[in-house]
Amino acid sequence: MMHQKPSQIPTMAENPNDHNQQGTRNLADESPLAVEMTCNHCNQIQKTDVKPQAGSGTYIMCLILSIPGCCCLPFFMDKCKDQVHYCSNCQSQLGKHEYKICK
Ligand SMILES: [Zn+2]
Repeated sequence: MMHQKPSQIPTMAENPNDHNQQGTRNLADESPLAVEMTCNHCNQIQKTDVKPQAGSGTYIMCLILSIPGCCCLPFFMDKCKDQVHYCSNCQSQLGKHEYKICK
């Protein structure tokens, strides 16, 4: 009669490298709204401050609307601007959601 010791097989399920795919994506680049993210400057988890900034889409929209009197309209419309994310803690720019005319 043989005693079989329960062998301890190390499980391969816990692989810390599985998280590699996340983290490369920048939430701030994908959302026009404030996002909660870790600032890579001060390492604080904070909600970004979003400020509109005239971007390439704004200028294209301006050309489309180049009717006298209306050409400056996109500059007054925050929706037509890039949304720039800033760290609410250290004010560093963390990302930019670019305005695109064709959504
Ligand atoms: Zn910061």
